[in-house]
Formats: sequence, C-alpha cells, structure tokens
Amino acid sequence: MHVPFLNLNLQYQSLKTEIDLAIANTISTSQFIKGPDVTAFEQAFAKKLNIPHCIGVGNGTDALFVALKALNIGPGDEVITTAYSWISASECISLCGATPVFTDLDAVTFNSTPEEITRKISSKTKAVIVTHLYGQAAEISAVKSICEANNLFLIEDCAQAHLTAENGQYAGTFGDIGTFSFYPTKNLGAFGDAGCVVTPSTELAEKMRRFANHGALKKNDHLFDGVNSRLDTLQAAILQIKLPHLEAWNNRRNEHAHHYAESLADLPEVITPIVRPNTLHTFHQYVIRARKRDELREFLAKHQIETQIHYPKALPNLGVYNHLNTTGKFPVATRLQDEILSLPIVPELTTDQIAYVCEKIKAFY
Ligand SMILES: *Cc1c(COP(=O)(O)O)cnc(C)c1O
Repeated sequence: MHVPFLNLNLQYQSLKTEIDLAIANTISTSQFIKGPDVTAFEQAFAKKLNIPHCIGVGNGTDALFVALKALNIGPGDEVITTAYSWISASECISLCGATPVFTDLDAVTFNSTPEEITRKISSKTKAVIVTHLYGQAAEISAVKSICEANNLFLIEDCAQAHLTAENGQYAGTFGDIGTFSFYPTKNLGAFGDAGCVVTPSTELAEKMRRFANHGALKKNDHLFDGVNSRLDTLQAAILQIKLPHLEAWNNRRNEHAHHYAESLADLPEVITPIVRPNTLHTFHQYVIRARKRDELREFLAKHQIETQIHYPKALPNLGVYNHLNTTGKFPVATRLQDEILSLPIVPELTTDQIAYVCEKIKAFY
C-alpha cells in the first residue's frame, strides 16, 4: 500500500466543478487584482474567526512582515519568538532591523511556555510572536496576560492553525494581529502563494491594508512607503470555495490523529502528540517523537510510507543565526530535531492507510 504524505490533487478532484467555475469566472471578468472575490473572502474569513478585520496579503511570510511593520518594529527592538518553527517569523524580525530572541519549547506541546517567554523579556522587547505549531494551540491566554502586563505587542503566527482554538476562541484573535498562510499544503490552501492578517483594531487594519499596497488605500493616495503584497483574486476565489470545507477537513485530521494515538499507545519507543485541555487542535502535522527516528523513517519509506521532518534543524542552530551566538543553547529544540517525525495526516487518507502506517511502525520496533 502506498501512503503519500500529501496529495493535493485528491482535494481538488472533490471540488473540481466549483473550483473550475470560479477560476473561469475570474478569468472572464479579468479583475485579477483587487477583484470582488478578495473582499468576499476577507469578509468570510473574518466572520469565520469572529474578528472584525481581515486583509489578504501575498503569503504567510509577508503577513508577518506586514504585521511587524504596522507595529513599528525596527532597529534596536527585540521580538521574542520560538526556537522551533519555519523560518518566517525570525526572518521577518531580522528584515525589520530588529533582533529575534528565541525561546526554547515544551517537548510535549511543541510550543514555548509563558514562563520561558517571561524569562526572555528585556528592556528592548517590543513584541512577542506566538506560533501555534503543528495546529496545537499555544498557551495564548497566559501569554496575552504577560504581554499586557509588560506592554508588549502580541502577534500570533497561525500559518499552521486555521481554526485552532483555546476555550472556544480562535487562534489569531487573541493578540494585536494574527497572521495566516494559505500555502497549498496548509489546512486551508490556495493554488499558489497566499496569506492574510487579521486584527480587532480598525487602526492597525488600515495601516496594514495600506502597507501591503504601497502605502495607499486607493490609487495615488500614498501616505507612506509600503510593499506590493496582495492576495490575488484567483487565489481568493479558490479559497472562497474551500473555506466552507475547512472544519470538516480539520475534523478528519482529528479522526486520523485519534486513530494513530490509539494504535500507537502501547509502543514505548514512540511518543504521540497530546491535545491541550480545552483547546481545538487542527493537526496541520501529526508529529511523533520516535526512538531511532532515522532508521524508522527509512523503514517506512521502504514500505511506501512517506514521512517528513518538521524541522531537521532548530532555528538557533541554523547558519543564518550564527551571529546571534545561539547554536546549541536550546536543549529541547535541539533534542527534538533528532526525535520528531511527521506522519501522513491529510484528510484524504483512508482509515486503512492510517492502520497500515501503524502496523509498519510496530513491525519496525
Ligand atoms: C508556512 C508557514 C509560514 C509561511 O507561510 P508562507 O505562505 O509560505 O510564506 C510561516 N510560519 C509558519 C509557522 C508556517 O508554517
């Protein structure tokens, strides 16, 4: 049996008629930039998250950049961010001229703890970026209280957390700004690069909408220098079709996760992920910690089971951050990079495929 890690085409096939029609409509109206579907999607996504403002941008990395710029993060500032994630958050902090200050993480939840974040606050700290890694809700209410007490901005990187929630409130709506990616493989994925920012603040919403559009809300109305980072009409049209299915896809991911957890429960060599109490996990990735990880991965590959490693190197251990002198200083993140393995979890997988993966993991040990 072949178990692919991803199969984007299967999801497309399930919505082919509607998506093809939406694409054809966009092409025939030819409003490729700032077409009506952009506003429609922004409103639908904001409504879904229960937040006043959503602004489409070019991708999830730009979303973080736009957010940091709107909060005036710049040279001399420090921004606290997790040691274990995709590079976008720390990269955007650096691109603003500020310094990323990494936090080590909790090996069980894969997110930084409020205590670790508090430990890293200095007189230069201006903001905290919380990443809800793999779809697991970070301890966001607690971090929000810390930010309020210390007068720090709070940005949530929700690129892996579409409809992740804590106590019924969606990730991205706790802080000053939430950022989302609609990269094709995310839980809500476009047919190319796409992203958005959300905020409860009317002032920040206008600033971000301007910044992402050359500092202007309409032609020749430039108030400050910005960038060109807009959500394409075509991508918005596709996302509009997909959005109503997001919840069901997330539920399916949870069913797979449940199945994995049950089947692998009595294997001492494998630690399966938990779901924090009172939260909704969206399982963007299903990440186990495994003894003899590399050998297991090879064994699974031999049996046609594709796996991935998110991520092979913790951020402070990457060459790009040598100048921060951070290599080796994050013991949990550094240990995880050798232990973790992402198993296939996309909604389109069948129960038989998940059972087959579990059977082979057991066979390996
Ligand atoms: C995917 C991802 C991003 C970047 O999104 P892009 O749309 O690829 O720019 C940022 N942060 C995290 C945690 C991600 O997983």
